[in-house]
Amino acid sequence: MNNNLNIANNVLSAIKAITSKTTLPLSEPVFAGNEAIYLKECIDSTFVSSVGKFVDDFERNLEEYTGAKHAISVVNGTSALHIALKVAGISSGDEVLIPALSFIASANAVAYCNGTPHFIDSDEATMGVDVDKLKDYLTFSTEQRSGFCINKRTNKAIKAIMPVHTFGHPVRIDNLIDLTNKHNIKVIEDAAESIGSFYKGKHTGTFGLMGALSFNGNKTITTGGGGAILTNDASLASLVKHLTTTAKKAHRWEFIHDEIGFNYRMPNINAALGCAQLECISQKIESKRMLFERYSSKFNTFKDLILFNEPVNCKSNYWLQTIILKKDNIQLRDKILQVTNDASIYTRPAWQTLNSQKPFQNSPSMDLSCAESLYKRIINIPSSTNI
Ligand SMILES: *Cc1c(COP(=O)(O)O)cnc(C)c1O
Repeated sequence: MNNNLNIANNVLSAIKAITSKTTLPLSEPVFAGNEAIYLKECIDSTFVSSVGKFVDDFERNLEEYTGAKHAISVVNGTSALHIALKVAGISSGDEVLIPALSFIASANAVAYCNGTPHFIDSDEATMGVDVDKLKDYLTFSTEQRSGFCINKRTNKAIKAIMPVHTFGHPVRIDNLIDLTNKHNIKVIEDAAESIGSFYKGKHTGTFGLMGALSFNGNKTITTGGGGAILTNDASLASLVKHLTTTAKKAHRWEFIHDEIGFNYRMPNINAALGCAQLECISQKIESKRMLFERYSSKFNTFKDLILFNEPVNCKSNYWLQTIILKKDNIQLRDKILQVTNDASIYTRPAWQTLNSQKPFQNSPSMDLSCAESLYKRIINIPSSTNI
């Protein structure tokens, strides 16, 4: 008991030793560029809402930064996932593979399409999809029927997979895509946490059919609330744009809508913030990567935990810095959370696994032992760029 308290206090001291600040939020936005200038320009133009130059600029700048051929901005990351799944053809009864260790938005987006999330396990090296375990699982549990990957247990088609680049760290996306191609499963990357993270030099969210970004206030760059869909496919891009803007046909004055669309477009005023934030993204990521080094110098002497290091072949944005307790130390987690939060050092556990959340308790899943173990052992520590 006492020993746990000692270790928790040592973790608190290690975090406090890297800064003179006395309160550390988990991840707060920093506005140190042209934000106020662009916001004023946007307000003065009166185009604060559904159209305007900042929306176009933001989308083109996202394309340039990520290397995606098309970026379509939307109101938040959850709606980006929803529309990506819808455009990928997910509908009633379809299953979508998602990591159990993820934010609730992943599973909700599948449910919005009347699909069923099908939970898969993560690995220790990436905190994302365990590609080797998935390979065995798909071989054993599915069969091909008229071009679809059928879950033998439920008789439903597994139409897509939505891997998450957890806390900004890329999964083994090239191996994953090789595997899912063999099984006719479409890949939509949940890159909500990984803007500025690259796998083998290529931006996350640009490997699959589509990728989704989030610009919520706690993410690496923010538009207040916001998101985007990335894709290299021109026809998918125009479909996404159409559906997220109420499915309205272009006309000088008539209102003609050719299907049920969504009011998911990003307002110009949010895009103005985004343009300014994107100008500073390289500095932000540099400071996050340096923060890892600073924490590393304090945590490398700890025997009971590790500070998570980016996986091989990756340049990670280190969105949230992560400590992982060794397997026999799970009892330490709540003590560390308590001691740090009591001291206004705002640490957080990982999400409770999605298979345990009330709306998804009856969803299909594979063995989730690693995800469940990681949930008990992960603590995210303060990760803002201004620490
Ligand atoms: C933040 C996040 C989302 C959702 O983004 P919002 O902009 O908050 O809707 C989806 N998936 C993951 C993994 C996230 O971290």
